[in-house]
Amino acid sequence: MSRVAVVTGGTRGIGKAISVALKKAGYKVVANYGGNDEAAKAFTEETGIPSLKWDVGNFAECEAAVQKIAAEHGPVDIVVNNAGITRDAVLHRMTPTQWDEVIRTNLASCFNMARVVIDKMRERAFGRIVNIGSINGQAGQYGQVNYAAAKSGIHGFTKALAQEGAAKGITVNAIAPGYVDTDMVRAVPPAVLEKIIAKIPVGRLGHAEDIARGVLFLVADDADFITGATLSINGGQHMY
Ligand code: NDP
Repeated sequence: MSRVAVVTGGTRGIGKAISVALKKAGYKVVANYGGNDEAAKAFTEETGIPSLKWDVGNFAECEAAVQKIAAEHGPVDIVVNNAGITRDAVLHRMTPTQWDEVIRTNLASCFNMARVVIDKMRERAFGRIVNIGSINGQAGQYGQVNYAAAKSGIHGFTKALAQEGAAKGITVNAIAPGYVDTDMVRAVPPAVLEKIIAKIPVGRLGHAEDIARGVLFLVADDADFITGATLSINGGQHMY
């Protein structure tokens, strides 16, 4: 029986690579997305992985989606909280909306998704939750107080929930990617990106597959002694 995995923001970028790697490894995967129907359609056609639209920042939508997935594919064994956005601005120009959107999509989503799967995971004494944080949650980043706060929050959330899940076979870990070549990073001005790459010891941006590799490691059945950990995958840019 293959395990059922849900990847939020699983149709593009890092999430896409995670969805594909999980499918390749034999998991039943459902990829969530937030609004880009065209990308989701292309993703499903290309990979054969079903995609499902809901807003991870909305608790009721997460609940309904997980119920639907469970009815169609079986109970959810694995959640990868990957969906994320940026709304960059220095604090003195940041609007309350920019703050709220980032906290809601990047951090509240982790609560929403974990909360709607946790009862069944506890009943079945198995669960794997992987939260995608960020190097900028570890080190901070100019122009990103909202994003750094949300990602830093993810690391605390991970350690607290890991303690709660440990006795029930549920592991909770985080991955803190460095700069990875996706649409999110392509939005960074080229001159800034050049300076960032100069600070990465391996001399390149990460590939989405570099992050997927970490997820596969953490969700394995026999990774049951690894919990509350943060795996930094950043080309040596920040050693935490
Ligand atoms: P992308 O912008 O390429 O993809 C983001 C994904 O999240 C899309 O599938 C998008 O859906 C989905 N999404 C956004 N908002 C919502 C929402 N409200 N509900 C459901 N899905 C949503 O991002 P990346 O692949 O670059 O990043 C993935 C994760 O990795 C994020 O959490 C990001 O913060 C983190 N990260 C990325 C780094 C990087 O260098 N790229 C570095 C460190 C961390 P749709 O297609 O519909 O828009």
